[in-house]
Amino acid sequence: MADLDFERTPGGAVLMDGNRLRDELVADLHRRINELGNPHVCLATVLVGDDKPSQIYIRNKRKKAEEAGMVSRHVELGTDATQAEVEEVVRALAGDPDVHGILVQLPLPDGLDAEPVLDLIPPPKDVDGLTERSMGRLVRGRDGHVPCTPLGVMRLMERYGVETTGRKAVVIGRSTLVGLPQVLLLGRKGCDATPTLAHSRSGDLASICRTADIIVAAVGVAGLVTAEFVKPGAAVLDVGISRTADGIQGDVDFDAVESIAGAITPMPGGTGPMTIGCLMENTFNAARMLGALPD
Ligand code: NAD
Repeated sequence: MADLDFERTPGGAVLMDGNRLRDELVADLHRRINELGNPHVCLATVLVGDDKPSQIYIRNKRKKAEEAGMVSRHVELGTDATQAEVEEVVRALAGDPDVHGILVQLPLPDGLDAEPVLDLIPPPKDVDGLTERSMGRLVRGRDGHVPCTPLGVMRLMERYGVETTGRKAVVIGRSTLVGLPQVLLLGRKGCDATPTLAHSRSGDLASICRTADIIVAAVGVAGLVTAEFVKPGAAVLDVGISRTADGIQGDVDFDAVESIAGAITPMPGGTGPMTIGCLMENTFNAARMLGALPD
């Protein structure tokens, strides 16, 4: 499946190290920005409320933007922010020529509606790729930003030599954030896998997954994917995050699966860091789309 120099798990699977690949990606962007004479490339983040995981995600995103040689602008609103206040902040960033990417950290606090907020982000600045127009472009095969988590999964497979052409893939989870765009990316020309979308009503998930060369688990149920789900040699990519008494756990029972899989992501340290890496990639591309980079 992959080159022998890759780090492997005790059971012999290629370890698809997201921290390492994110660091490579960020260093590469830094080098490219440097070579272009350090143009102003700005990622604006918006955080509403006091959700602790969201605060950590935002901190990491801002840190990596700076490491990539970008400017990080941040706006924070309290838990009592109104819909109109959040929309006003995003409208201002949308109209600001010094801002290239806008990321509104989701979920918004209860009582606020994310949809009208996301609708205010112009497609070139939609570096999270989550707005209706960006998703429409993905469906229609037009240029635009692709959601960061499923894009990170694709980058991990490319980097670690996972064959996709003609391969069968099963994506578990059908959200617009991960599962749906993941299926589109796996099935599109150039990747050429044959994806199946499995979900909470699919029935016998183990037998559906056992037919797959690639499994992407994006559910949020700790340890859902056990040994009986995995065909020998399959690539297993874990997106799910569950915060349990034993710490963060993924959807994949890593210890049970790593000796069967051909390649596997750790959790943490797999798809999470790549989500941030791809956000940086999208922000660089946003600056290019907006004409902020020299030719
Ligand atoms: P979501 O709750 O919107 O969707 C979960 C999906 O899982 C649903 O489509 C549902 O049909 C399916 N599902 C639920 N229970 C199931 C079951 N028992 N069997 C099969 N399918 C089941 O969540 P989301 O936003 O798509 O996120 C999925 C997970 O990924 C969450 O744990 C989230 O925290 C995590 N996440 C991780 C990253 C990352 O960077 N690694 C990024 C985004 C989300």
